Amino acid sequence: MRETAERTYDCQACGACCCNPDENRAEQYLDYVEVTTRSALAKHPQLIRRLTVLNAKGERHLKLKGAEQRCVALEGTLGKRVSCTIYQWRPAGCRAVVPGSRECRRDRRERGIDPK
Ligand code: SF4
Ligand code: SF4
Repeated sequence: MRETAERTYDCQACGACCCNPDENRAEQYLDYVEVTTRSALAKHPQLIRRLTVLNAKGERHLKLKGAEQRCVALEGTLGKRVSCTIYQWRPAGCRAVVPGSRECRRDRRERGIDPK
């Protein structure tokens, strides 16, 4: 969580960066978060089978679902209450977005959590 003078960036009340961003949607690009063989998640074959998909190049990514194009590992309602069901094993890409950063603020705007 991060607080600024304007707002509080509480990931557990958000989930915007767990959804495919608009730029990717415009290109019908679904390879949002890569899961490499070095990822802690790769040591859990059942989770790999359930939560990931291979693209045409053989690269593994988290599956996205629904109109929100949200990661299948995300539980809850965007912008209200969410949690990552594989938090301790989440891939490196999930750890890269810093609450309150430019990418975070863009994702929140795109998903309607903050005003445009
Ligand atoms: S978009 Fe920002 S506040 Fe929302 S879950 Fe991601 S890092 Fe947290
Ligand atoms: S693995 Fe967790 S942190 Fe990463 S996109 Fe999915 S729900 Fe979000």
